[in-house]
Amino acid sequence: MSNYLFSPSKDFASLLDSQDPLAHFRNEFYLHPDGIYLDGNSLGLTSKRAEKTLLECFEDWKTIGIDGWSQGTHPWFYISEKLGEQMAPLVGAHADEVIVTGSTTSNLHQILATFYKPEGKRTKIMANELDFPTDIYAIQSQLRMHGYDHEKHLIRIKSRDGLTIAEDDIIAAMSDEIAVIIMPAVFYRSGQLLDMKRLTEEAHKHGILIGFDGCHSVGSVPHYFSDWDVDFAFWCNYKYLNAGPGGVGSLYVNRKHFGTYPGLAGWFGSDKEKQFEMAHEFVPTHDAGAYQVGTPHILSLAPLIGSLEMFHEAGIDQIRKKSLQLTRYMMDLIKNELGDVGFTIGNPDEDHLRGGHVCLQHEEAVRICKALKDRGITPDFRAPNIVRLAPVALYNSYTEVYESVQTLKKIMAEKAYEIYENKRGVIA
Ligand SMILES: *Cc1c(COP(=O)(O)O)cnc(C)c1O
Repeated sequence: MSNYLFSPSKDFASLLDSQDPLAHFRNEFYLHPDGIYLDGNSLGLTSKRAEKTLLECFEDWKTIGIDGWSQGTHPWFYISEKLGEQMAPLVGAHADEVIVTGSTTSNLHQILATFYKPEGKRTKIMANELDFPTDIYAIQSQLRMHGYDHEKHLIRIKSRDGLTIAEDDIIAAMSDEIAVIIMPAVFYRSGQLLDMKRLTEEAHKHGILIGFDGCHSVGSVPHYFSDWDVDFAFWCNYKYLNAGPGGVGSLYVNRKHFGTYPGLAGWFGSDKEKQFEMAHEFVPTHDAGAYQVGTPHILSLAPLIGSLEMFHEAGIDQIRKKSLQLTRYMMDLIKNELGDVGFTIGNPDEDHLRGGHVCLQHEEAVRICKALKDRGITPDFRAPNIVRLAPVALYNSYTEVYESVQTLKKIMAEKAYEIYENKRGVIA
């Protein structure tokens, strides 16, 4: 990827933009008029197509009411399955292995309620000490429900450097005491990308089920869940997939597990032909749809219909290619322009080890983020010392990356961050 000849000039940014096959997608988004948005890994931007499909669903509700379930522009009764089918190529899954439902956290609960079946001495769950907290809370509460000690039965792989987790350490900890492994595909702070294929192979050698949290990877990194034989996965759609705040999440279940009775059952997991027979005998459908619970949140699904169209047109491989080049360019600029003002790059450098964002460490990270925001640039801060910058393939340009680094350079040269209070906001 880094086979381009870096130059720190502004013309070089324009050149990269002029050669960018995805550049036209930028017009599809509502960009901030005087700003540069680099927080697409927390909340992706609104697009015109997402707005259109949201309004279509709203209009159906307005004009045909209950008939929207079967006769709307996007018949609501089938939306979760339809979106699962459209999502499948982004994660390398068969169409019936993905369902758009619930949230990241509730889908992790469903996975553990369904597939965590402690037996004999195989009773533990493996995660890591850098995990996003909600994943840990969900795992611990599932352990408690089984009557286990939530500390002793949760194996948290330690980080050697505070930023990344060594795959060798994960593999070394695999044993016949572990029932399930849950790992992120991309770590939310450092952007480290795990080798999911390798970990899945190793887990299976030990008879362990393994699943991945794709919140920071789906929509920016290709996955091949079916080929890798991953057991299950879950992710949110409001980050790189731009489905809107609180947009409905996704769940992947490998075909080989179809038929496993859902741990958390509900009528929307029914065989669709039987659902409205209203019988008390639950007949789950024989695909990932079985792990739905209640009525789908239509208005929080609707924007994803339009948004996903663009991912199909662009193709996940092109998106990954541009994403890698954007982050490479950003890192090159940072090294070139900000070499001596106390920043260190915390994400792995190699293309195959990093996700879609740059992790910039600085002891003044909180105040630097505030100074950037006041200058129209939206980064995000992660305690204690991380500025995350996510240049997103579908809507960020190389020129924006250039401008952002110039602004950062100016902030540092003028020590402009010193006027801000050194305290993070409630939502950092
Ligand atoms: C964003 C994110 C979540 C959020 O979970 P919700 O249930 O959508 O609130 C969970 N895990 C990771 C790794 C995330 O990045």
